[in-house]
Amino acid sequence: MAQERTCDVNPTTAPRLPVRVLSGTVSGMDRFYPIGVPGQPWGPAEKQQWLAERSIERSYRDDVLDRIDALEAPFEVSSYGALPIDPERYPLKMVTLRSTNPDAPWALLTGGVHGYETSGVHGALTFLETAALDYRDSLNLVVAPCVSPWGYEVINRWNPNAVDPNRSFHDDSPSEEAALLIAAIAGLDVPFLLHLDLHETTDSDEDEFRPAVAARDGKPFEPGTIPDGFYTVADSDNPQLDFQAAIIAAVEEVTHIAPPDENGQLIGADQVQPGVIEYPCREWGLCQGMTSAQYTSTTEVYPDSPKATATICNMAQVAAARASLDFALAHSGQS
Ligand SMILES: [Zn+2]
Repeated sequence: MAQERTCDVNPTTAPRLPVRVLSGTVSGMDRFYPIGVPGQPWGPAEKQQWLAERSIERSYRDDVLDRIDALEAPFEVSSYGALPIDPERYPLKMVTLRSTNPDAPWALLTGGVHGYETSGVHGALTFLETAALDYRDSLNLVVAPCVSPWGYEVINRWNPNAVDPNRSFHDDSPSEEAALLIAAIAGLDVPFLLHLDLHETTDSDEDEFRPAVAARDGKPFEPGTIPDGFYTVADSDNPQLDFQAAIIAAVEEVTHIAPPDENGQLIGADQVQPGVIEYPCREWGLCQGMTSAQYTSTTEVYPDSPKATATICNMAQVAAARASLDFALAHSGQS
């Protein structure tokens, strides 16, 4: 399988570790990450070192919980657990908006599965604040705006155990972030028509997080390129390409769509139609594969373009959410 790909944070806010590429070869691999021995998977000591070098950069309470707590009826806010690293600091919150229509289908919106991907979190919150009520007559909405709040605060892709939550949506998950969300969604016991998972792909993926995962797993680092613009990930087992196209068309009104590279690819995966790639979402344990929804997609906003601002990125996420809901409703006979 190809080396794990990442999607990701704004390099102006992301902490950067020095990436040293030494000349020559060490055990068959150049040294490309400051923790561990190239070619040897990390053990507990390396993971502990990695954790010790993280620091809190921003506030989940101020940026996220306060905005969730400000939502009033008919929004319902519920807790579905807390992260064991600090349960007081990291309660996990989900927002439900029940439809006035008893026959309305259910839609799920998730953000911050990768906590460092800022517009995934803020886009979900902005959607709740500005758009969600427009759908109350036709949809039941469940929104988990910040699945990985520790990752949000330390601006990192992994959880405190150096585990990527977005490879962990499966049984016996090593990620509490994933396991608790899986349990919460299962506990609702409702069929979802749609699930949209909000992400970013950023320059720090190539500078920090792809080297980190290669180092952690004892693999060589193979440089890649970061797409310049927005794209979506479809599930290769259920791509729904017309649905993906509707999202791309809506987001194109807000920000530019990533062109493919010279190999016809985006971030190492074949572009199947403009701005769309496919991953095997269930096989890879991606959040997008956690329900059996008919319509699923992962958004990948690119915040590091000189043309992008935080507001544009958030509005791109909201546009993607609106387009996905509108398409699902129009094609389910419920609109
Ligand atoms: Zn991501």
